[in-house]
Formats: sequence, C-alpha cells, structure tokens
Amino acid sequence: MEDFADQIAQLCLEKYNKLSKNGKPLEKEWTVLSGIILKKKDSSLNLVALATGTKCLGKSDLLNTKIYEQGCRLNDSHAEVLVRRAFLRYLYEQIDFLLSDFKSDIFTIDDKKKIKLHDGISFHLFTSQTPCGDCSIFLKKEFYEDDIPPTKIRKCDYNNGMEIVESNNNRKEKRLIKDIYRTGAKCVKSEKYQDPHLPGINYHVVGPLRTKPGRGNPTLSLSCSDKIAKWNLLGVQGSLLSILIPPIKIETIIVGGNCPFSLEAMERGLYKRFNEKTCELKIIQSKFSFNQQKNSERKHPCPSSIIWCAVAVEGRKQGATKKKKGSNLLITRRALFETFLQTCDKYQHSDCNIRHPKRITYLDCKMWSKNYQSLWNTLKSDSFHTWPSKPIHLQTFVL
Ligand SMILES: [Zn+2]
Repeated sequence: MEDFADQIAQLCLEKYNKLSKNGKPLEKEWTVLSGIILKKKDSSLNLVALATGTKCLGKSDLLNTKIYEQGCRLNDSHAEVLVRRAFLRYLYEQIDFLLSDFKSDIFTIDDKKKIKLHDGISFHLFTSQTPCGDCSIFLKKEFYEDDIPPTKIRKCDYNNGMEIVESNNNRKEKRLIKDIYRTGAKCVKSEKYQDPHLPGINYHVVGPLRTKPGRGNPTLSLSCSDKIAKWNLLGVQGSLLSILIPPIKIETIIVGGNCPFSLEAMERGLYKRFNEKTCELKIIQSKFSFNQQKNSERKHPCPSSIIWCAVAVEGRKQGATKKKKGSNLLITRRALFETFLQTCDKYQHSDCNIRHPKRITYLDCKMWSKNYQSLWNTLKSDSFHTWPSKPIHLQTFVL
C-alpha cells in the first residue's frame, strides 16, 4: 500500500516538475499541489488532473462584483478544489471522446445507451499536505518541556489529551499535552460548538464544519476537509455531471510526506464525524514530499495557481493554464455549465433532454440532477445541516 502511495505521489511531483515556471511559487512562497490519478484494470496509473493553489476570496469580494454573478470567477482556489474542477474538465473531454465514436479511457455506453465507467477503473487523490479544516487539527507529536530531562521516556496517550511521562525509575506521572496543530478555518457560525481559542489543546473543537480564511474577511467556502467529505458521499462529479454519468468516488487519498499528518484526524475529518463509521476511503501518507510546500524558508502563500488536465483527443494539445486572477478559465461555473449544455446536445439521451438552454439558469439546471439533489438534501438534514448555501443570485445566471 505504501508503494502505491509513493507511486501516486511521484506521478504528481514529476508532472509538476515538468511544467513551466508560470504560476509556480517564487523563492519564498509556498503552495499546495493536488492531483487525481486514474488506475485502470491492468493496474496502470495515469495522472489525469493536477492543480496548485492556496487562495480563497472573501465574502465581500464575492458580493460586490458583477463578474461572480455570471459564474465567471472562482472564489475557492485551494489546490484540492481546483484539481476537482480540472478533473471535471477531463471527464467532459472523455464524454466528448466517447460521443464522437472514439474509444474513451474510462467511459463506455451500455445497452440502455447510458454512459458508464469501464470495469476495474478507480480514481485516487494526491494532496501535498493535510487538507485544511478538521483533518488538520490534532496533537503535536513534538513538544518540549524544559523540566523533563531527555533521559526520561515519553509515551503519549493522544486520545485523552494526556501524555504519560515515564522516568528512569519507573515512576509514572501524567501531564497535559502542550499543543495541537491549528487550522485557519473558522467554525460555521450556526454550529453548536465553537472554538474556545484557549491556549494549548483547547484552542479548537473538532467536528464542526468550517469556512476557509480569506484575506482579512470571512469567506463562503467550506474547508477542504468538509468538501472532500461531501465528495466522498456524493461523488466528485458534482450535480451537473451526475445527470450524465454515474457517481465517481475517490478510492484513496494520499497525503504528501514531511508535513503534519494524523490518520486518526483524517478519518475523523473525512467521515467519522458524520456518523459514517465505515467508509471505503483509504488514507495513506506517502514518503515523497513536495519541495515547494510551506516551511521555514517558504513563508508566503503563492497567489497564482496552475491548473492542468489530460486531454485525450488527438491533435489537441495537452495544456497547462495559468490562472489569471481567477477569471476566464475553463473551469469556472460558467465554462463548465456551457460545456455541460453542449454535451447534453451531443448526447441526446432522454435523461438530459433540456429545453431552452439559452434561458435556463445554472441553478435550474442543477435542480435537474434529481438523485444528486435528493441525496444531498438527506445529508443536509442529517450530518451537514450547517452547510451554508451560496447566495441564490450567484447561481441564477444564464449563458
Ligand atoms: Zn484547503
């Protein structure tokens, strides 16, 4: 299993290294790298989407600008979120390929003319550091106390927030663990439990949904831990694509090496806190690490992003896109909506017989995904009831 994690990490790191400097961090900047890997029946691995990013726009940026209302801008540019969008692009390309009578790497058409995945296909997500939010809150393994000489053996009982200190003469004493790793993401306001912000281990609570920090102003975007938890239950394809294809689940999450990581916190953050005690998601830390991640030399988040996806069609170039201030991308809500309607046109299946595409709003179109919406509503009434919805006026644009 570790070998598998290392192979996945290596594919992402190698691809990243081959890309041009455009959008990459400068000397003192850091970023997060995420990738999605396709594993085929013959066990071959292919990187199909890659992204870097650290930024998230605040609520005020979002509400004051007309451009958002037309779905032209992304507010959340964390790598995990961008790589999912790049992956959506890849999925549309694959559907287009299939509908153009080529052989798709991942899709095929069944007897009922529905699109389905080839047998034995799976997808795996790499991210160079632990996702922000709940997954990032856990006890620090390294802590120092002047009063304990190094000859003493330390054992930590992390579950109870206590450490047991065993001295050479076998005398045991208990003392409180010093500190936890923190996240910049704040608890959603309507959550019952809020961070006490007390020193040490009582700084955070675990469990609540959290919103990403913006530059000095709150954002509407949920933390990556929360978003990945949602994808884990609903699939990464999102509502529009769920009209065309079956749900696509991520099978393994691989976190890059040399960064704070706790399997326990990852499991809690991604499913255990939502009453999903068993889950097929596998979580592994790779030994390979991303050398442009946050460290003592790289202290500033890199403001630009790289977004790349594999394009299978012959004659079309595989390309990396440098993100220019979040606009005119192939992965904005508007661009993906446009591609969705074009794909529906080409597919001509009764499942996506959408009339008046010129007048249909993005929101109306999303409501077409009946199964997806009803599952999401069930989840919202149960574990995700504090999930804030995006303001309606940001979703009612037409093309
Ligand atoms: Zn994040």
